[in-house]
Amino acid sequence: MKLVLLGAPGSGKGTLAQSLTKELNIPSISTGDLFRENIKNGTELGKKAEVYMNEGKLVPVELVMKILKDRLSKHDTKNGFILDGFPRSIEQAELLDEMVDIDVCLFLDVDEQTIINRISSRRVCKACGNTYNTRTYINKDCECGGELYQRDDDKEETVLKRLNTFTTSTTPLVDYYKNKGILKCVDGNGSIEDTYKKVMEIL
Ligand code: ADP
Ligand code: ZN
Repeated sequence: MKLVLLGAPGSGKGTLAQSLTKELNIPSISTGDLFRENIKNGTELGKKAEVYMNEGKLVPVELVMKILKDRLSKHDTKNGFILDGFPRSIEQAELLDEMVDIDVCLFLDVDEQTIINRISSRRVCKACGNTYNTRTYINKDCECGGELYQRDDDKEETVLKRLNTFTTSTTPLVDYYKNKGILKCVDGNGSIEDTYKKVMEIL
């Protein structure tokens, strides 16, 4: 199965992808994580992407496509994959369609206030990338032992810019996938478990 997860920053795409990966036994690919990995390793691509990320803007399409193509060329994607945070614009969606046939696009629909609350309490594991919410998870470290930190772009002013970018560039994708007949909408305002249940009923 080739799946696209569509949703605002903080809508729960990453968390859902973590669960779906185990359930469906296919890798989940987050372009945001791939960029953060490049930034951590100090690559040229990472240095270029970081500037845009810290401003809450979309990274230029050439860089995104490069990182995505490299990842999709790996052997573990042969039975399918979950795309988390890609595509984020009509242009990216069209380029993706030239490469593969997507089966389903899941749109996680979440209210803006819920998103802002979630992002401000989000922490990420330095070692494995898992995410936690400080209101429900009180430990200092990840279950894997890794250290938890707050992403640079999870600061409030950048969050507002990211939400803006989402509304302008990414929301048009809802219609794009609706027109293709592969859009499934899920109410993502509830708990992680609720959302997961709804998604499994759909898939
Ligand atoms: P979130 O979905 O919570 O915003 P991500 O980790 O998916 O977080 O993305 C973080 C940042 O990385 C984005 O704000 C953007 O700058 C950049 N980015 C990630 N994926 C893409 C993409 N497909 N196209 C352009 N920029 C991207
Ligand atoms: Zn971890």
